[in-house]
Amino acid sequence: MMNKNDQETQQMINNVDLEKTFLGSVEAGQSLPTYTLPDDPMAPDVAAQLVEHYRLNEAKANQNLATFCTTQMEPQADELMKNALNTNAIDKSEYPKTAAMENYCVSMIAHLWGIPDNEKIYDDFIGTSTVGSSEGCMLGGLALLHSWKHRAKAAGFDIEDLHSHKPNLVIMSGYQVVWEKFCTYWNVEMRQVPINGDQVSLDMDHVMDYVDENTIGIIGIEGITYTGSVDDIQTLDNLVTEYNKTATMPVRIHVDAAFGGLFAPFVDGFNPWDFRLKNVVSINVSGHKYGMVYPGLGWIVWRHDTADILPAEMRFQVPYLGKTVDSIAINFSHSGAHISAQYYNFIRFGLSGYKTIMQNVRKVSLKLTAALKTYGIFDILVDGSQLPINCWKLADDAPVGWTLYDLESELAKYGWQVPAYPLPKNRDDVTISRIVVRPSMTMTIADDFLDDLKLAIDGLNHTFGVTTTVDQDNKTTVRS
Ligand SMILES: *Cc1c(COP(=O)(O)O)cnc(C)c1O
Repeated sequence: MMNKNDQETQQMINNVDLEKTFLGSVEAGQSLPTYTLPDDPMAPDVAAQLVEHYRLNEAKANQNLATFCTTQMEPQADELMKNALNTNAIDKSEYPKTAAMENYCVSMIAHLWGIPDNEKIYDDFIGTSTVGSSEGCMLGGLALLHSWKHRAKAAGFDIEDLHSHKPNLVIMSGYQVVWEKFCTYWNVEMRQVPINGDQVSLDMDHVMDYVDENTIGIIGIEGITYTGSVDDIQTLDNLVTEYNKTATMPVRIHVDAAFGGLFAPFVDGFNPWDFRLKNVVSINVSGHKYGMVYPGLGWIVWRHDTADILPAEMRFQVPYLGKTVDSIAINFSHSGAHISAQYYNFIRFGLSGYKTIMQNVRKVSLKLTAALKTYGIFDILVDGSQLPINCWKLADDAPVGWTLYDLESELAKYGWQVPAYPLPKNRDDVTISRIVVRPSMTMTIADDFLDDLKLAIDGLNHTFGVTTTVDQDNKTTVRS
């Protein structure tokens, strides 16, 4: 038997132990500090669990069908990244192996994009890792701008005279916001080519009307964020070749391939869109989209066949193993973990591994399209036969009383994020829904989604009193 004193001591010990646990902690009974730093420290386990517990209230990654970003990597890659988190990708003398892996990745990507695989490989292109495509686009745009300035001066333009020579950039109206930032930051006129009819891509009949001697470049988008459709960059290249025959200021193409750039090389169904086209001077991609690395990682590659494609003033010399190398990125310090992870993915999966994975992705996307069609109420805008994006609108004659915004809310009740939004300028009367199929969306997740989609549509039809049913056997729509 413990005496009273012993009991009290034990009780105290128990309480102290409990207070050290997450649920028994004083802090669990208080709101988390949000406004100013707390006065006192707390136990690391408690702090970690409080933060994790809070964070897990975010949506589940598997059900986020809106994002392009990687949310799942192999455990080996997780481990690699954890080990390399404390490195700094910008410090090439302290982390020369990370710098080397960055160069290997740039080379592998350049060759995926049609840089010929010949002896002098490292002379044919130049590139860098970035924090994402936004930084890649910014760099691609800046290279176009600086190059234009050099060429404009050489042609005798007074480039200070913004009335006659304000630089402009030509792009379709469904651009990603980074291009608007680029034009605003650097005082470049953005010339938006409106979309034409149901064609959500750069309008080849009109694009050249927007080009003149002050055009720093045309952006081709290999994967339009809004819909997943692609610009016809091959036709654009032909138009540009024709234009350049007589132009004082030949025009160039930068391809924003943020998500297509590491998908299209692995599957069929794409016309040439990359360095196989001679007017394409630079391409960016997000490593954290179909490169299958966690955010944030991007890449940009320039072809190197004339010196002015990436002007000298954009290359900053930094020390590297007793010599100097070019530093091109805008961001300075950031972890090198992502570079190790990208290099891991490249050597781990290889060409055929990426092909296999992306073919699975395409299969899922095509299955979603087939399922959407069975309802007979949707018009499919992008069907997954090129990039693995599903994009649809309600058919004009769909006998339903609900909108795609209602569908978005209804699916959210089941945890799925499927955004609805208007098309870009000119067609913004049309509302679309979009699903991004990522490698982590296995067929089972897709099946699960489709079950909930059916429940959601039935629910909406019930609420709005609409009578559309699907005959699942012969896949025709019966409307009453
Ligand atoms: C995602 C995306 C971007 C921005 O990429 P981040 O890697 O998120 O910075 C730019 N352009 C297009 C076409 C995109 O889809």
